[in-house]
Amino acid sequence: MHPDVKKILVSEEEIQKKCTQLGQEITEAYRNYPQPPLLVALLKGSVPFLACLISRIELDIEYDFMDVSSYNGTESMGDVRILKDLGQSIKGRDILLVEDIVDTGRTIVEVGKMLKNKGANEIKVVTLLDKPSRRVVDAKADFVGFEIPNEFVIGFGLDYNEKYRNLNYVGVLKEEVFQGE
Ligand code: 5GP
Ligand code: MG
Repeated sequence: MHPDVKKILVSEEEIQKKCTQLGQEITEAYRNYPQPPLLVALLKGSVPFLACLISRIELDIEYDFMDVSSYNGTESMGDVRILKDLGQSIKGRDILLVEDIVDTGRTIVEVGKMLKNKGANEIKVVTLLDKPSRRVVDAKADFVGFEIPNEFVIGFGLDYNEKYRNLNYVGVLKEEVFQGE
């Protein structure tokens, strides 16, 4: 375990098992769609989860990336800005938005609106982690890996000031890591 980590909330093994399960659910959910979904992954946090998930989806999916920002350190800033946009038209496409974590819900609601404005057909959301107790807007993911309590987590794509994304588990940092800032 990384020396800055206080405890592991979701282990590597649990994440891998969950990716297999979600991959199967997604495969079933989209099996009868006229065209497989375009996965839109939100940078940078969802990259490890996207990589884990796509090999378990048995459909001819495609994926693309968007980068939006709403967070600075551990506090929500409340507004969502596009830092990097999609590289293709999504007119008429069914979109599966891939998130690392749904917290207040603002990101998936705002990005959902942006994708609709670009002419997307149906938008579903898959998230590795969900903190339902933190919601400030009405937002619900269609596929959820793990519900977690109201704690700031890092690992498996999730960062604290850009660090810890490369951990293969999800954990909570020791208090002194924040005090050292
Ligand atoms: P929301 O818009 O739902 O409040 O926030 C979604 C985004 O906030 C996530 O994609 C993630 O980047 C960030 N976020 C929310 N909770 C956490 C957390 O516990 N740890 C980290 N590292 N990022 C978080
Ligand atoms: Mg994110």
